[in-house]
Amino acid sequence: MNTAQIPAGAAGTATATRPVLEVVGLRKRFGDHTALDGIDLTVEEGEVVAILGPSGSGKSTLVRCLDQLETIDGGAMYLDGELLGFEQGKVLRPLTDAGVRAQRRRMSMVFQQFNLFPHWTVLRNVTEAPVAVHGVAPAEAKAKALDLLEKVGLSDKATAYPRQLSGGQQQRVAIARAVAVEPRVLLFDEPTSALDPELIDEVLQTMQALAASGRTMVVVTHEMEFAREVADRCVFMADGKVVEDQPAEAFFRNPQTDRLRSFLARSM
Ligand code: ADP
Ligand code: MG
Repeated sequence: MNTAQIPAGAAGTATATRPVLEVVGLRKRFGDHTALDGIDLTVEEGEVVAILGPSGSGKSTLVRCLDQLETIDGGAMYLDGELLGFEQGKVLRPLTDAGVRAQRRRMSMVFQQFNLFPHWTVLRNVTEAPVAVHGVAPAEAKAKALDLLEKVGLSDKATAYPRQLSGGQQQRVAIARAVAVEPRVLLFDEPTSALDPELIDEVLQTMQALAASGRTMVVVTHEMEFAREVADRCVFMADGKVVEDQPAEAFFRNPQTDRLRSFLARSM
């Protein structure tokens, strides 16, 4: 066992306010292609962090690594100071499947393509994980799901099936489903990219309300206005690296690199 190889992270430093998420030197390869080339990222409690960058820069890979949908090749990720995906002290040795599942329960991901279960009602889509995975009593899960559906403006759709809903409505159900398990961190991977333009705002407004309620969120997005107005911090990625990481206002007003300047000029 060689603990010295574990990058120093939140786990090793007893600070008063520990970040919810800490990523240190994260590396991920696909074959001989390096998708993540040493990513450092810290997310504090209640913070909303937007991840921006050109296609292929590694944004999806980063949030998929955080949600443990990918194994990693180096570096480390911590959730509440606990090493994600690896047993403390055993470098690059994954936890058991059960261990990874237990950790994944503390994160929720909202995908571009909603990924609702088509043969289940809206209500069942939202209650399934709390009941089947988290052991919440069905009546309690139902009450909570109805409350969440009201918050996303869909209380009248509880008994509908996904195919009966618009894309924007389906994505709002997916958001309610993600919140229903009370995750420590909500991850979003381009949640509005598959939507018709007129349906984007209703989803962004739902996300804005979540942000205002104090949720910790990491949001991969192309929506510049959302990033500017809702995110606390914006991270610009290119070629698997973090190129800039700034408070949202400074990010847009005063980009430090030519790469971000030209990206913003093209995107806005
Ligand atoms: P982004 O979300 O920023 O568009 P991705 O994280 O999807 O970028 O991809 C980063 C790089 O990794 C791209 O070059 C992509 O082709 C590659 N990549 C992503 N997933 C896979 C995979 N499963 N197999 C092989 N290459 C992949
Ligand atoms: Mg992507």
